[in-house]
Parts: sequence; structure tokens; C-alpha cells
Amino acid sequence: MAGPVSSAPAIELRGISKRFGTVQANRDICVTVPRGTIHGIIGENGAGKSTLMSILYGFYRADEGEILIGGRETHIPDSQAAIRAGIGMVFQHFKLVQNFTVLENIVLGAEDGPRLSTSLSKARRILIDLSRDYGLEVDPDALIEDLSVGHQQRVEILKALYRQAEILILDEPTGVLTPPEADHLFRILRGLRDQGKTVILITHKLREIMAITDNVSVMRRGEMVGTVATANTTPADLAERMVGRKVLLRVDKAPATPGETILEIRDLRMTEDGIERLKGINLTLRRGEIMGLAGVAGNGQSELLAILGGIARGTGSIRMKGRELDLTGREDGQDRRAQGIAHVPEDRQHLGVIMDFAAWENVAFGYHHDAAYRRGVFSDNAALRADTNAKMERFDVRPPNPDLAIKHFSGGNQQKIIVAREMERVPDLLLIGQPTRGVDIGAIEFIHKQIVALRDRGAAVLLVSVELDEVMSLSDRVAVMFDGHIMGTRDAATTNERELGLMMAGVTETA
Ligand code: ADP
Ligand code: MG
Repeated sequence: MAGPVSSAPAIELRGISKRFGTVQANRDICVTVPRGTIHGIIGENGAGKSTLMSILYGFYRADEGEILIGGRETHIPDSQAAIRAGIGMVFQHFKLVQNFTVLENIVLGAEDGPRLSTSLSKARRILIDLSRDYGLEVDPDALIEDLSVGHQQRVEILKALYRQAEILILDEPTGVLTPPEADHLFRILRGLRDQGKTVILITHKLREIMAITDNVSVMRRGEMVGTVATANTTPADLAERMVGRKVLLRVDKAPATPGETILEIRDLRMTEDGIERLKGINLTLRRGEIMGLAGVAGNGQSELLAILGGIARGTGSIRMKGRELDLTGREDGQDRRAQGIAHVPEDRQHLGVIMDFAAWENVAFGYHHDAAYRRGVFSDNAALRADTNAKMERFDVRPPNPDLAIKHFSGGNQQKIIVAREMERVPDLLLIGQPTRGVDIGAIEFIHKQIVALRDRGAAVLLVSVELDEVMSLSDRVAVMFDGHIMGTRDAATTNERELGLMMAGVTETA
């Protein structure tokens, strides 16, 4: 940087727009980030936060708009240019080389090539100084693969500081951290700010915004709703801005006609890494109803779904069709399927599919013991292929090629394949997490219709989504989770975004 204008803001974005196909990811975004502040950017999933930051970091080029760094208009065609402009990015999924040491990773930047102009011993000294100055303790000689996620994140931050970043962008940095690790990160970020650095924190967690930011910008559906001083706002206010009041794309469905109780959850608890994630959940589901679990991500919804799906353990009691489920880990996802529980997991890339396997193999995944797919002790691959072909046609998967590896389908089409696999056998209970994350608009409507159709055939559906719009339009009843608790359950037809938004922020209204 050629000497910034001293009073100028660290960053000013003017009229940034970016479109992906039919999706307007950013529309005329204007935001100013003063130097030496922690600036939050909050918004629901898909609001356009990562796109905006990717433009700032030179990953995407804006269709329109200007970027000013330190008061100077700056072109950022690639990440090298971003680094030259003093911008460092801490990625949501770290880009460290696992079998290299901390020091090697810091010197051999993945994006801007090796920085071998300095010797390793000099680099080590710089690294040790930075670690000390900013409270980022890590062993320079440790292998990345041996470090905890929290420590790997520190290496990412050190890497940016080593490149003399004045502006640090962190995209959902606490998603991968335990709460104590998150607290530690916040102490580091405050330290950075107090030494004059500018920090941009992208998150969808209200609590983090309130805890450490100086200012906060709210994004919704590609637009900048506004920027306020954090001291002048409240979680309830932010929740309302995030969620918005725009007309919903309502799902066309008749009122539910719930039947018998199928699922009874009593005092369900779960502790992970010494942290209580579920603090006594009670919930009942009936046939023919869709129960939506609303909440800001990370409040226990995922854990609840994982226990029900047989991929995590818990304590307490879950009765499915009157039979007690084993929560100790002896039953897995396949046992649950045999009990009539289908599961479309939230993290489909890790739990839902095997990326390198063909579509038909993924359709068989979890169901390959079924008699229809077996010939003697072997699975009947021809039958599986034919079956996948039919499912692909019904679910309009593109391209409809059962032999194509899953990784070659778009996110939306991957999701359709999983949804087809889980729904087409009409389970008694469908667990579905973030059903439309990364899914294009046409496919969203289709998946929603399938969920309602399944309900109308008498299944119970437990839906987890961080998209409040989706929960409200799809569910018959909505339970709001906050901090491992169910804050309350509401009738979807009579509640509103404001009421749910407040509950999501942990605010209890005294009725
Ligand atoms: P956020 O970070 O707030 O969750 P993103 O910026 O990742 O949101 O996404 C905003 C919108 O742009 C979403 O609808 C998303 O699906 C879409 N999008 C993001 N990146 C791409 C891409 N590379 N190609 C197509 N669509 C994209
Ligand atoms: Mg994002």
C-alpha cells in the first residue's frame, strides 16, 4: 500500500453487485469499515456474505462497484492483489497443507506462492514475534495434521499477519470451534484490533456479533440492509433485520391432519468435548405433520438430528413407534432406516454421499441390504442402476446419468439424489437437515413439494433449517432451539417472524 490517507476508512465498498447465473448474490452493496475496528457482517445462509468477502479478496470479480482500501480505489483481480493491499483472509475451510509444519505452511503461502526471499530462520523469528505479540501460541515445528482445529485457525491468522495484513477477514470462524476455542479466538481478535488492525467477522451468530464487534452490517438476500453501531442495537433488532419482512414464497399445502404419535423425545441430552449441546429436549411428533426446528445454527439442532439418525450418541429417551431407540451408539444409521427413519443429513458432502462414487452407488448407500437390490449374497447392480435411473427422472436430476460420480453434479442435484434416495421408500419419519442449502430456486420448490407429499402420505417430518423462511413456509409446527434448549413450540400458521426471531435470539416473551 502506498501510504493510506490517515483518516480514511480501512475499506469502503461502493455499489458492489455480483450475479451467479440467475442468483443475484450481491446487489448494490455499500459499506464502510473504519480502521481499527471489529466489523461484523451478519445474515442468514445465502445472504451473500461470503460472496462479498470473496470479491474483496480477489476470488470473484464484481459485476459492478468500487473498492476503496485506505481511501484509495483499488483493483483486486486476484488474491495476490488483495495481499498486496494488506488484506488477509482466514478461510472457513482451512487451506493448510496437512503434512507440513506450521512454519512451512506460513512461509509457503498457498495463494501467493512461496516467500523464500527470507531464510527459514528469519521466518521463524518473525513467526515467534507475531505469536507473542498477538497471543497466538503455536509450535512452529508442529505438523498441521497434529493440531486441533482451533490451532490450525491460529496458523491461518499468523499466515495473514506474516504477509503483513492490516485487514483480516474471518468467514464464519467459529463454526468449527468449540465455545472455549471461540472465546480464545475473540480475545485474539480484540488484541488485533487494539493494535490497530481492522477485523471483519462474518457470522450468522447474533451472540458473537454482540460480544465482540464495534459495528455490524446486516445482509439479507444479497442486499445490505444497513450498518449500525453494535452498542446501539440488540439481538432482537438484528434478528428482525436478518430475517426481514419480505413476502415469503409460501409452499402450497393443505392444513395438516396429524395422526397418531410416532416419535416421543424425553429429556434428551448430549455432551460433546465437555460441552452440553443438548440440555434436556422434549418433543413429540405425529404422523402427517411437519415439525420445523428453527434456530440460528449451532444451538443443538444438528445434534438432535444426528442422534435421531443414529450417527451420534445421547442420553434420555426416544421412542419411535412405541419402541425405545438405542442411543448408546450400538445402533447406526442403517438400523434406524430399518426402523422407518430416513435421514437427509445436513452435512451431505461428508455424511450423505461418497463424492467419488457414481450416483447409483450413492443411491444404494445405506439401502444395499434391501432384498430388491440383492441377488444371492451380491447386490444386483443392474437393478440398482435401473432404479437410480427412474429416481433421477422423477426428481429431474441433471444430467440423468447414474454412472456419473456424485462430485460432478451441482450441489442442488446432489441434494435431489439424496432426497430421492431417502424419500422414495416412504419412511415413517423423515429427518431432513438444511434441505435446500446450496440448492437453486427451481429445485427448492421441488424438494419442498416432495416433503409435503410425504407428509400427506402419513409420514412425520422433522425439518432442520437455518432458513427461517423455509421453516415457516414448510412446517405445520415450529420448535425454536436456542442454546441446547427448545425455547417453545408454535403453530406455524399463527406465529410470525418476529416472534420466532426473538425466540431464536434467546429472548423469552412473557405472554
Ligand atoms: P452467505 O455467505 O451469506 O451464506 P454466499 O455469498 O455464499 O452467502 O451465497 C449467496 C448466494 O450466491 C447464494 O444463493 C449462493 O447459492 C450463491 N452462490 C455463491 N457462490 C456461488 C457460485 N460460485 N456459483 C453460483 N452461485 C453461488
Ligand atoms: Mg458464507
